[in-house]
Amino acid sequence: MNYTNSPIEKITFNNNSFYIKRDDLLHKDFSGNKARKFYYFLQKDLIGIKKIVSHGSAQSNAMYSLSVLAKIKGTSFDYYVDHIASFLKDNPTGNYKYALENGMNIYEKEVPNNFEDDVLFIKEGGALNEAQFGLKILADEIKIWAEENSIKNLKVFLPSGTGTTALYLQKYLPYEVITCACVGNEEYLKKQFFQLENSNHPKILAKTKKYHFGKLYKEFYEIHLRLLEQTNIKFDLLYDSLGIKLFEEYIRNDNKTSNNYLYIHQGGIIGNESMLQRYKNKYKEL
Ligand SMILES: *Cc1c(COP(=O)(O)O)cnc(C)c1O
Repeated sequence: MNYTNSPIEKITFNNNSFYIKRDDLLHKDFSGNKARKFYYFLQKDLIGIKKIVSHGSAQSNAMYSLSVLAKIKGTSFDYYVDHIASFLKDNPTGNYKYALENGMNIYEKEVPNNFEDDVLFIKEGGALNEAQFGLKILADEIKIWAEENSIKNLKVFLPSGTGTTALYLQKYLPYEVITCACVGNEEYLKKQFFQLENSNHPKILAKTKKYHFGKLYKEFYEIHLRLLEQTNIKFDLLYDSLGIKLFEEYIRNDNKTSNNYLYIHQGGIIGNESMLQRYKNKYKEL
Protein backbone atom coordinates (compact mmCIF):
# COMPACT_ATOMS: atom_id res chain seq x y z
CA MET A 1 0.00 0.00 0.00
CA ASN A 2 1.28 3.44 -0.89
CA TYR A 3 0.82 6.10 1.75
CA THR A 4 2.88 8.81 0.02
CA ASN A 5 2.73 11.08 -3.03
CA SER A 6 -0.34 13.25 -2.66
CA PRO A 7 -1.42 15.57 -5.51
CA ILE A 8 -0.80 19.33 -5.70
CA GLU A 9 -3.55 21.57 -7.08
CA LYS A 10 -4.00 25.27 -7.68
CA ILE A 11 -6.96 26.94 -5.96
CA THR A 12 -8.33 30.44 -5.48
CA PHE A 13 -9.79 31.63 -2.21
CA ASN A 14 -11.08 35.18 -1.73
CA ASN A 15 -9.21 36.18 -4.91
CA ASN A 16 -5.87 34.83 -3.70
CA SER A 17 -4.44 32.00 -5.78
CA PHE A 18 -2.13 29.43 -4.31
CA TYR A 19 -1.10 25.80 -4.61
CA ILE A 20 -2.27 23.20 -2.18
CA LYS A 21 -0.62 19.92 -1.24
CA ARG A 22 -3.49 17.48 -0.73
CA ASP A 23 -2.14 15.33 2.10
CA ASP A 24 -5.79 14.93 3.11
CA LEU A 25 -6.00 12.57 0.10
CA LEU A 26 -2.99 10.39 0.95
CA HIS A 27 -5.11 7.41 1.95
CA LYS A 28 -8.70 6.87 3.06
CA ASP A 29 -7.72 5.73 6.56
CA PHE A 30 -4.19 7.00 7.07
CA SER A 31 -3.80 10.57 5.87
CA GLY A 32 -2.70 14.08 6.74
CA ASN A 33 0.42 15.01 8.60
CA LYS A 34 -0.07 12.21 11.14
CA ALA A 35 0.41 9.70 8.32
CA ARG A 36 3.69 11.49 7.49
CA LYS A 37 4.77 11.70 11.12
CA PHE A 38 4.04 8.03 11.80
CA TYR A 39 5.32 6.77 8.45
CA TYR A 40 8.57 5.67 10.10
CA PHE A 41 6.64 3.21 12.28
CA LEU A 42 4.41 2.14 9.42
CA GLN A 43 7.24 0.98 7.19
CA LYS A 44 9.35 -0.41 10.05
CA ASP A 45 9.20 -4.01 11.11
CA LEU A 46 7.84 -3.66 14.65
CA ILE A 47 9.39 -6.92 15.76
CA GLY A 48 8.68 -7.64 19.41
CA ILE A 49 6.15 -4.80 19.73
CA LYS A 50 2.80 -5.96 21.06
CA LYS A 51 1.29 -2.64 22.00
CA ILE A 52 1.31 1.01 20.96
CA VAL A 53 0.71 3.48 23.80
CA SER A 54 0.03 7.19 23.55
CA HIS A 55 -1.80 10.02 25.30
CA GLY A 56 -3.52 13.34 24.64
CA SER A 57 -7.03 14.55 23.94
CA ALA A 58 -9.98 12.21 23.33
CA GLN A 59 -10.68 13.91 20.01
CA SER A 60 -7.18 14.05 18.65
CA ASN A 61 -6.29 13.32 15.03
CA ALA A 62 -3.09 11.64 16.24
CA MET A 63 -5.13 9.24 18.37
CA TYR A 64 -7.19 8.12 15.39
CA SER A 65 -4.12 7.70 13.15
CA LEU A 66 -2.38 5.61 15.81
CA SER A 67 -5.45 3.37 16.02
CA VAL A 68 -5.08 2.80 12.27
CA LEU A 69 -1.36 2.17 12.60
CA ALA A 70 -1.97 -0.39 15.37
CA LYS A 71 -4.58 -2.13 13.24
CA ILE A 72 -2.28 -2.32 10.21
CA LYS A 73 0.61 -3.58 12.35
CA GLY A 74 -1.53 -6.04 14.31
CA THR A 75 -0.67 -4.59 17.73
CA SER A 76 -3.04 -3.41 20.43
CA PHE A 77 -3.43 0.32 21.16
CA ASP A 78 -3.77 1.90 24.62
CA TYR A 79 -4.55 5.60 24.85
CA TYR A 80 -4.54 7.76 28.01
CA VAL A 81 -6.63 10.90 28.42
CA ASP A 82 -7.25 13.31 31.30
CA HIS A 83 -10.94 13.40 30.65
CA ILE A 84 -13.59 12.31 28.16
CA ALA A 85 -16.41 14.82 27.79
CA SER A 86 -19.75 13.22 28.70
CA PHE A 87 -21.41 14.33 25.44
CA LEU A 88 -18.70 12.45 23.56
CA LYS A 89 -19.04 9.33 25.72
CA ASP A 90 -22.79 9.36 25.14
CA ASN A 91 -22.57 10.11 21.42
CA PRO A 92 -19.23 8.94 20.07
CA THR A 93 -18.28 10.81 16.88
CA GLY A 94 -15.23 11.64 14.82
CA ASN A 95 -11.79 10.47 15.84
CA TYR A 96 -13.04 9.04 19.13
CA LYS A 97 -15.71 6.90 17.48
CA TYR A 98 -13.51 5.52 14.71
CA ALA A 99 -10.52 4.91 17.00
CA LEU A 100 -12.79 2.84 19.27
CA GLU A 101 -14.03 0.95 16.22
CA ASN A 102 -10.40 0.19 15.40
CA GLY A 103 -10.04 -1.44 18.82
CA MET A 104 -8.48 1.38 20.86
CA ASN A 105 -8.47 0.87 24.65
CA ILE A 106 -8.98 4.27 26.23
CA TYR A 107 -8.13 5.06 29.88
CA GLU A 108 -9.14 8.15 31.80
CA LYS A 109 -6.01 8.27 33.92
CA GLU A 110 -2.36 9.29 33.99
CA VAL A 111 0.06 7.73 31.56
CA PRO A 112 2.21 5.11 33.32
CA ASN A 113 5.84 6.12 33.85
CA ASN A 114 7.39 3.02 32.40
CA PHE A 115 6.46 0.21 30.10
CA GLU A 116 7.48 -3.32 29.22
CA ASP A 117 9.89 -3.79 26.32
CA ASP A 118 7.08 -4.85 24.02
CA VAL A 119 5.50 -1.37 24.11
CA LEU A 120 6.05 1.38 21.58
CA PHE A 121 5.37 4.67 23.38
CA ILE A 122 4.43 7.67 21.21
CA LYS A 123 4.55 11.14 22.74
CA GLU A 124 1.43 13.32 22.51
CA GLY A 125 0.79 14.63 19.01
CA GLY A 126 3.74 12.70 17.55
CA ALA A 127 6.37 15.32 18.41
CA LEU A 128 9.21 12.88 17.75
CA ASN A 129 12.56 12.72 16.01
CA GLU A 130 11.26 9.78 14.00
CA ALA A 131 8.65 12.09 12.43
CA GLN A 132 11.33 13.55 10.17
CA PHE A 133 11.56 10.30 8.23
CA GLY A 134 8.11 10.74 6.66
CA LEU A 135 8.36 14.54 6.54
CA LYS A 136 11.54 14.32 4.46
CA ILE A 137 9.54 12.29 1.95
CA LEU A 138 6.90 15.05 1.91
CA ALA A 139 9.66 17.67 1.42
CA ASP A 140 11.11 15.67 -1.47
CA GLU A 141 7.70 15.43 -3.15
CA ILE A 142 7.40 19.23 -2.94
CA LYS A 143 10.93 19.82 -4.25
CA ILE A 144 10.44 17.51 -7.23
CA TRP A 145 7.10 19.12 -8.08
CA ALA A 146 8.59 22.64 -7.91
CA GLU A 147 11.54 21.64 -10.11
CA GLU A 148 9.43 19.80 -12.67
CA ASN A 149 7.01 22.71 -12.95
CA SER A 150 9.67 25.45 -12.76
CA ILE A 151 7.95 27.02 -9.75
CA LYS A 152 10.16 29.87 -8.57
CA ASN A 153 10.19 31.89 -5.33
CA LEU A 154 8.13 29.35 -3.47
CA LYS A 155 6.92 29.93 0.07
CA VAL A 156 5.38 27.05 2.00
CA PHE A 157 2.72 27.61 4.63
CA LEU A 158 1.08 25.32 7.21
CA PRO A 159 -0.55 25.86 10.62
CA SER A 160 1.15 24.29 13.66
CA GLY A 161 0.18 22.40 16.77
CA THR A 162 3.38 20.93 18.19
CA GLY A 163 5.24 22.47 15.23
CA THR A 164 6.87 19.14 14.33
CA THR A 165 5.61 19.14 10.74
CA ALA A 166 6.64 22.74 10.00
CA LEU A 167 10.03 22.26 11.67
CA TYR A 168 11.05 19.19 9.71
CA LEU A 169 9.72 20.62 6.46
CA GLN A 170 11.99 23.62 6.97
CA LYS A 171 14.86 21.25 7.72
CA TYR A 172 14.45 19.45 4.40
CA LEU A 173 13.16 22.20 2.08
CA PRO A 174 15.23 24.89 0.37
CA TYR A 175 12.24 27.30 0.54
CA GLU A 176 10.98 29.50 3.34
CA VAL A 177 8.49 27.66 5.59
CA ILE A 178 5.95 29.88 7.36
CA THR A 179 3.60 28.79 10.12
CA CYS A 180 1.36 30.04 12.93
CA ALA A 181 0.70 28.81 16.46
CA CYS A 182 -2.78 27.27 16.78
CA VAL A 183 -2.09 25.72 20.20
CA GLY A 184 -0.70 28.26 22.65
CA ASN A 185 1.19 31.38 21.66
CA GLU A 186 4.28 32.04 19.54
CA GLU A 187 6.59 31.55 22.55
CA TYR A 188 5.16 28.10 23.16
CA LEU A 189 5.70 27.11 19.53
CA LYS A 190 9.27 28.39 19.58
CA LYS A 191 9.94 26.23 22.66
CA GLN A 192 8.48 23.22 20.86
CA PHE A 193 10.89 23.82 17.96
CA PHE A 194 13.86 23.95 20.34
CA GLN A 195 12.88 20.60 21.84
CA LEU A 196 13.56 18.97 18.48
CA GLU A 197 16.13 21.17 16.69
CA ASN A 198 18.36 24.08 17.73
CA SER A 199 18.38 26.01 14.47
CA ASN A 200 16.73 26.53 11.09
CA HIS A 201 13.27 27.17 12.51
CA PRO A 202 10.22 28.13 10.39
CA LYS A 203 9.01 31.70 10.46
CA ILE A 204 6.04 32.16 12.87
CA LEU A 205 3.32 34.63 11.85
CA ALA A 206 1.96 36.66 14.73
CA LYS A 207 -1.74 36.33 15.44
CA THR A 208 -3.74 39.53 15.21
CA LYS A 209 -6.06 38.29 17.95
CA LYS A 210 -5.85 35.78 20.79
CA TYR A 211 -7.51 32.43 20.08
CA HIS A 212 -7.89 29.47 22.41
CA PHE A 213 -7.34 26.05 20.90
CA GLY A 214 -10.52 24.03 20.50
CA LYS A 215 -12.83 26.95 21.26
CA LEU A 216 -15.78 27.32 18.91
CA TYR A 217 -15.29 30.60 17.06
CA LYS A 218 -18.11 31.39 14.67
CA GLU A 219 -15.51 33.04 12.47
CA PHE A 220 -13.71 29.69 12.09
CA TYR A 221 -16.90 27.93 11.07
CA GLU A 222 -17.59 30.62 8.48
CA ILE A 223 -14.08 30.37 7.02
CA HIS A 224 -14.52 26.59 6.80
CA LEU A 225 -17.82 27.06 4.90
CA ARG A 226 -16.42 29.69 2.55
CA LEU A 227 -13.44 27.47 1.81
CA LEU A 228 -15.75 24.60 0.96
CA GLU A 229 -17.91 26.81 -1.28
CA GLN A 230 -15.03 28.37 -3.18
CA THR A 231 -12.60 25.46 -3.45
CA ASN A 232 -14.77 22.37 -2.97
CA ILE A 233 -12.21 21.14 -0.42
CA LYS A 234 -12.99 20.32 3.21
CA PHE A 235 -10.52 21.94 5.57
CA ASP A 236 -9.87 21.14 9.21
CA LEU A 237 -11.78 23.38 11.63
CA LEU A 238 -9.18 23.41 14.39
CA TYR A 239 -6.06 24.35 12.48
CA ASP A 240 -6.93 25.37 8.93
CA SER A 241 -9.54 28.03 9.71
CA LEU A 242 -6.95 30.06 11.60
CA GLY A 243 -4.14 28.96 9.29
CA ILE A 244 -5.88 30.01 6.08
CA LYS A 245 -6.97 33.31 7.62
CA LEU A 246 -3.41 34.27 8.54
CA PHE A 247 -2.00 32.83 5.33
CA GLU A 248 -4.41 34.90 3.27
CA GLU A 249 -3.49 38.09 5.15
CA TYR A 250 0.16 37.24 4.61
CA ILE A 251 -0.24 36.81 0.84
CA ARG A 252 -2.17 40.06 0.60
CA ASN A 253 0.53 42.00 2.48
CA ASP A 254 3.38 40.21 0.77
CA ASN A 255 2.12 41.68 -2.49
CA LYS A 256 4.82 40.17 -4.70
CA THR A 257 3.37 38.79 -7.90
CA SER A 258 6.58 36.83 -8.55
CA ASN A 259 6.08 34.74 -5.41
CA ASN A 260 4.37 31.37 -5.43
CA TYR A 261 2.65 29.95 -2.36
CA LEU A 262 2.00 26.39 -1.31
CA TYR A 263 -0.38 25.55 1.53
CA ILE A 264 -0.10 22.09 3.09
CA HIS A 265 -3.46 20.45 3.76
CA GLN A 266 -2.65 18.29 6.79
CA GLY A 267 -5.85 16.26 6.91
CA GLY A 268 -7.95 16.12 10.07
CA ILE A 269 -11.30 15.80 8.32
CA ILE A 270 -12.58 13.01 10.57
CA GLY A 271 -12.03 15.34 13.52
CA ASN A 272 -14.45 17.82 11.93
CA GLU A 273 -17.33 15.46 12.66
CA SER A 274 -17.25 16.11 16.41
CA MET A 275 -16.36 19.79 15.90
CA LEU A 276 -19.39 20.32 13.65
CA GLN A 277 -21.62 18.65 16.19
CA ARG A 278 -20.29 20.98 18.90
CA TYR A 279 -20.85 24.00 16.62
CA LYS A 280 -24.43 22.97 15.96
CA ASN A 281 -25.08 22.55 19.70
CA LYS A 282 -23.63 25.95 20.48
CA TYR A 283 -25.06 27.97 17.58
CA LYS A 284 -28.56 26.67 16.99
CA GLU A 285 -28.96 28.78 13.87
CA LEU A 286 -26.17 26.97 11.97
C1 LIG B 1 -1.91 17.43 14.04
C2 LIG B 1 -2.37 18.45 13.07
C3 LIG B 1 -1.69 19.68 12.91
C4 LIG B 1 -0.51 20.07 13.76
O1 LIG B 1 0.66 19.35 13.42
P1 LIG B 1 2.01 19.58 14.23
O2 LIG B 1 3.03 18.74 13.55
O3 LIG B 1 1.77 19.12 15.64
O4 LIG B 1 2.33 21.04 14.19
C5 LIG B 1 -2.17 20.57 11.97
N1 LIG B 1 -3.26 20.30 11.22
C6 LIG B 1 -3.92 19.14 11.33
C7 LIG B 1 -5.12 18.90 10.49
C8 LIG B 1 -3.50 18.17 12.26
O5 LIG B 1 -4.17 17.02 12.38
